[in-house]
Amino acid sequence: MQYEVVIGLEVHVQVRTESKMFCSCPNRFGAEPNTLVCPVCMGYPGVLPVPNGEAIHKAVRAGLMTDCRIATFSKFDRKSYFYPDMPKNYQISQYDLPFCEHGKLSVGPGKGFSGNDMPEKIIGITRIHLEEDVAKLTHHAKASGVDYNRAGVPLLETVSEPDMRSADEAYAYLTKLKEIMQYGEISDCDMEKGQMRCDVNISLRPFGQEKFGTKIELKNLNSFRAVHRAIEFEIVRQAELLDRGVVLHQETRGWNDDAGESYLMRTKEEAHDYRYFPDPDLMPVTFTETEIEAMRQALPELPAARRDRLVREFNLTEYDAEVLTKDKVLADYFETAAGDAPDGKLLANWIQSELLRELSARGIAVAECPVSPEAFAQLMTLIGKNVINGKIGKDVLGFMFEEKKSPSDIIKEKNLAQVTDTGAVEAFVDQAIAANPAQVEQYRAGNPKVLQYLIGQVMKCSRGKANPQLVGELLKKKL
Ligand SMILES: [Zn+2]
Repeated sequence: MQYEVVIGLEVHVQVRTESKMFCSCPNRFGAEPNTLVCPVCMGYPGVLPVPNGEAIHKAVRAGLMTDCRIATFSKFDRKSYFYPDMPKNYQISQYDLPFCEHGKLSVGPGKGFSGNDMPEKIIGITRIHLEEDVAKLTHHAKASGVDYNRAGVPLLETVSEPDMRSADEAYAYLTKLKEIMQYGEISDCDMEKGQMRCDVNISLRPFGQEKFGTKIELKNLNSFRAVHRAIEFEIVRQAELLDRGVVLHQETRGWNDDAGESYLMRTKEEAHDYRYFPDPDLMPVTFTETEIEAMRQALPELPAARRDRLVREFNLTEYDAEVLTKDKVLADYFETAAGDAPDGKLLANWIQSELLRELSARGIAVAECPVSPEAFAQLMTLIGKNVINGKIGKDVLGFMFEEKKSPSDIIKEKNLAQVTDTGAVEAFVDQAIAANPAQVEQYRAGNPKVLQYLIGQVMKCSRGKANPQLVGELLKKKL
């Protein structure tokens, strides 16, 4: 039978703040385990939590950027929770009065992750609430380790409506949400550092049926690609069971990305009863309409607006702007470099092809790029002024990554400057003509295509340093 797939997503992002949600411990990744802790985040008796205003403002900003209604009155609740990753037997979260509700995000139109066309679609956002993260557990052969540095880090949960109907739509929604979190400087969303985590609710129903099918929750998805794969896998798995007449039960499943399959974690009978109640230690949070309006006025430029502006200001194609703005840090890099570079379009091409290639070959994130945008702009200027040609430019960029020197120093040290002196280039041209009599003959017999080959030979003689335009001119003259 043909089934319609119904997908909803719950996305957690760690909010970028100086300190944790309810204490003054640093919110920092990568420290020695259990060094960023205090009596508050360790849940000692008698301590009092103090909410982090920065985190609350960022939660509201996330709501404003996704068209949510912002609550003028909200509160924190305790979620009963008995597991060693939370030291105080409850997690502070928000239950019935979250900061943001009834929002939406639009995805498409365009090509989806799988390459299929995707129409434009509005995906509802049920709510965005703030809570505290739990500790990180690491399981070893005979023991488990717990690192409470993460316990108490502000965590923003965005719950979507069950509006998505394909793995492509889920992927596009996640991409869009990540863009907003990054552009709003709400979260860095580095999935490798666990700063963005995603759970998927997925069910199937026969086309035309209004009632939802049985919901399966997928957990532990640590990349957008894994989300896409897991959804495709579940659609096939659930359809096969339904075709055989099996009655599905609500369950939580994990995803094994290596094996490419989901596995049962727990069934509904084992589900927790969280018994929420208002946290008596925390005052409700209130905003006036004027305060909310002021925060709306102060919103940063959204990705779509930035794309349009880049196309306008730098004469880029829609595609260039799309690639550059996908990652806010990359877009910032481009704009900083564009301040000094002679040609925005050339710069955009070089960033998309050469810079991203060098970064991915070295496994470095844009934020950690050892070549500053200013140095990159200098390289563009040198190419623009014909001091070096594009081919040598690629080598220079490689050296800039390795040696962390300015492009002009590298060109000087390695003697890479382009040879534009006609006499010197003529010598290379003569050399190439003498070494390739057969091709010269073909050219003279009326085959213009061998000219490119001969230009290549001259460039080789000059070890890539001759000005290719001059080479072409001199060759034609001599032949
Ligand atoms: Zn603390």
